Amino acid sequence: MTEPTTPQLTPMPEDWRRALAVVAHPDDLEYGCSAAIAAWTDAGREVAYVLATRGEAGIDTLAPAECAPLREREQRASAAVVGVSTVEFLDHRDGVIEYGPALRRDIAAAIRRHRPELVITLNHRDTWGGVAWNTPDHVAVGRAVLDAAGDAGNRWIFPELTERGLQPWDGVRWVAVAGSATPTHAADASAGLERAVASLLEHRAYIEALTDEEPETYVRGFLTEVARSVGERFGGTPAVAFELFAR
Ligand SMILES: [Zn+2]
Repeated sequence: MTEPTTPQLTPMPEDWRRALAVVAHPDDLEYGCSAAIAAWTDAGREVAYVLATRGEAGIDTLAPAECAPLREREQRASAAVVGVSTVEFLDHRDGVIEYGPALRRDIAAAIRRHRPELVITLNHRDTWGGVAWNTPDHVAVGRAVLDAAGDAGNRWIFPELTERGLQPWDGVRWVAVAGSATPTHAADASAGLERAVASLLEHRAYIEALTDEEPETYVRGFLTEVARSVGERFGGTPAVAFELFAR
């Protein structure tokens, strides 16, 4: 009998120039996949970030009105560390993002503005695997991103976008979902891991409220362990996993 082997992950596609990452909160990309983003921007690819909220409900000790501008600043600094200078906010309300046409339209508009071939988002499924329940914002935004990749190319679904001068963009070839319990693909994280650590560390106020551990120890430990465990399915190379939906 042969030993059961875990199926290996396929390398992410390389034949693209522009990516757009759309997630619910500041820090979603830094926990999910910024090591891959650092490597992509190093290679001269353009990556832009769109955040559905400003993460204003994310810090227990800080009221939303003070929290929103702080987390926006942290997100912009954290994007800059991995070579991303475009960061936009859709201003949905943190914690109660509603899946529906309004969210799909806002994301479709962002896709039309940026015209990416690759769209990145965070786990849209009910759980992170097993019984680790996901949050409603991630589920709503992830699903809406998968849908909006198609909506962006259809001139009749949100005609008001065309009236605003946003022409249909049917060029999205893949939606890559980070944090999925059922990944299919992976990107080498070795070159980007140090910057991923620095990038997540920019969310300092959030992390200090989250854990008593020393922030750098916590961040480095977390990201290194995730990359190592994905690497078990990627030839031993530390990696970031994605579930890739081709269009
Ligand atoms: Zn989140």
